[in-house]
Amino acid sequence: ATPTSIMVGTGRAAQLGVLFRKGDALQRVRDCKVVAFDKTGTLTKGQPELTDLEVSKGFDADHVLTLAASVEATSEHPIAQAILRAAKGKGLSVPKATGFEALAGFGVRATVEGHEVLIGADRLMTGEGLELLGLEAQAESLGQQGRTPLFIAVDGVVAAVLGVADPVKPSAREAVRALHDLGLQVAMITGDNKHTAGVIAQELGIDRVVAEVLPDGKVAALEALRDEVGAVAFVGDGINDAPALASADVGIAIGSGTDVAIEAADVVLMSDDVRGVVNAVAISQQVIRNIG
Ligand code: ADP
Ligand code: MG
Repeated sequence: ATPTSIMVGTGRAAQLGVLFRKGDALQRVRDCKVVAFDKTGTLTKGQPELTDLEVSKGFDADHVLTLAASVEATSEHPIAQAILRAAKGKGLSVPKATGFEALAGFGVRATVEGHEVLIGADRLMTGEGLELLGLEAQAESLGQQGRTPLFIAVDGVVAAVLGVADPVKPSAREAVRALHDLGLQVAMITGDNKHTAGVIAQELGIDRVVAEVLPDGKVAALEALRDEVGAVAFVGDGINDAPALASADVGIAIGSGTDVAIEAADVVLMSDDVRGVVNAVAISQQVIRNIG
């Protein structure tokens, strides 16, 4: 493409709220064969709600929710917000936790009123050698409904399974369809549960899913995708997404996302509407086509 056509292309994109931070990104978008999306906050609204709470024998639901909220008060994960809102909604008073620790990609832990509390994915519990006490069936059924299952353990005993629902953005399904029409494959790369991710991917018409990856696993997943399909654009919003945004052929950040993600990206969408990705691809294809 000529410098003039690139200027026209980036200008047209900017009018649509798609900011190209580097001119050559417009040409690199044109070469992409696959667009990989982060899930939480990118394809979904990133404002989950607590929908389910089933306790093990001998545990009280309000007490478990109080302990969970106490631990999550220090976490910045969207799941934490869901648990805190649920506890507030029930009028529970949340005690202060000590010794908070975030286990990236797994969950969180802290001490609350002398109790050791652990919250996170099934792999966190099994990694600690804890029995799921039959709650794994409930967890699987939550996943099949597209909800994220979480376990909470109190003093080394699994006390409850929680379900969190994060609705997809209205723009996501349309964006996936339009990317297909433009000849690209669409993938999802997420740390979330594989059943949950699979259901959401199917709902959106996504071709490939990589689930239950740890934060640095996103880069490895991108490299595998690049080897198999070709140049890859990655779309994300979180701190966890920064390495993948930097290593993708084109990194596209959601403008409402974290500063770390925006700084790592080649392209920034000014709204959280993922159809901005479609505009970026369509404009890049037009600019290159015009030059022949
Ligand atoms: P993603 O944002 O892509 O879903 P993360 O790596 O942030 O991936 O989280 C992966 C999984 O780790 C979550 O689905 C959840 O099971 C668990 N997890 C992470 N942070 C928390 C938290 N604050 N509370 C409970 N579970 C958590
Ligand atoms: Mg995210």
